Amino acid sequence: MVGINSFTANPKGVNHLAQVTAEAFAPLGFGAASVPSVNPSYGDHLVLTRPGTSGRSVALISHLDTVFPPEEEERHQFRWQPEGDRIFGPGTHDIKGGTAMMWLVLQALRARAPEAFASITWKLFWNSSEETLSHDFGALCRTYFDAGTLAALVFESEGRLGDERLMVLARKGRATWRATVTGRGAHAGSRHRSGANAAVQLGATLQRIAALTDYKRDLTFNVGTVTGGTVLNRVPHEAMAEGEFRAFTPEVFNQAKAALLALSGPGEVRAVADRFPCEVHLEILSESRPWPRNPGTDRLADLWQTTGAALGQRVGGEQRGGLSDGNFLWDAVPTLDGLGPWGDNDHCSERSADGSKLPEFVEVSCFVPKALLNTMAILALIGKQ
Ligand SMILES: [Zn+2]
Repeated sequence: MVGINSFTANPKGVNHLAQVTAEAFAPLGFGAASVPSVNPSYGDHLVLTRPGTSGRSVALISHLDTVFPPEEEERHQFRWQPEGDRIFGPGTHDIKGGTAMMWLVLQALRARAPEAFASITWKLFWNSSEETLSHDFGALCRTYFDAGTLAALVFESEGRLGDERLMVLARKGRATWRATVTGRGAHAGSRHRSGANAAVQLGATLQRIAALTDYKRDLTFNVGTVTGGTVLNRVPHEAMAEGEFRAFTPEVFNQAKAALLALSGPGEVRAVADRFPCEVHLEILSESRPWPRNPGTDRLADLWQTTGAALGQRVGGEQRGGLSDGNFLWDAVPTLDGLGPWGDNDHCSERSADGSKLPEFVEVSCFVPKALLNTMAILALIGKQ
């Protein structure tokens, strides 16, 4: 799987990986369906199901894509590379290692708890384009959920605090935005007073946007890109910036959005000649809502924690700034994330001779203990119902 390039924008590779994945799970009795992404330049989502004898189901979630273009893997010679207790390579940790974990857990359930395994309808989902946060995948999963769906378990990597495993209990929501300022162009030499400088107005507006960051409320705004103007002897008539903001709770998220959009309207930068104002326009480009702390997730986390305690493993929880497919699922069925293996340096492919830069890797020795924890916790979840 690591040897197959599955960059989000490489649909051939993504579909190839989907086929290999389906073949790996077929001996466990899983049937495959592929569902086209709404974006025709991406590969297909993969759904594997195995019908059970009870009306109950459990959903397991992973993704096919990685952030590494084939040229980058080639340039950095970034490929499957075992080294001591680590395996370096694209997607080893995010998230092909998570897919391997799913396979281990299902194998263990079938071998050691065949009745429980056969009673549950297993629904396995792979997003073809998780790294771009395509919303259609969450909607697809939700069409497979029903009243008998006990949980959605996401196999993104676990966190660590010392030797304590951290499950993911909440993730920030994220919105991307664009600020466009329209001013009035003018000759910078002869007509300077007639100009309404869009770049100067954008500078003032961006200060206000940056000031919306409030660490006490876990709200961050990032101004990501700035463009504007054309040539140096012209008062710029246009300027534009794009960025994002993130928050953990729907309340803070919605307040932040309202505060941002309220910056639209006439700006304070005006032409001296006739008070012609720059016009500021704020828009939301995309929105992925927050996954806040909630009772469904907390109950699952308790189950993993008590199971861990019985196995002699320390298990805790964390709230993460980054998003996952859990953001689109938690309000449909109880959702827990972080079931994948431990590793580090996600989204990095560079390696320097002095070791100050290391690429993505997964830790080999974490797989079996984590698979044990997941397997026993899932059995506890099934037994509890
Ligand atoms: Zn991931």
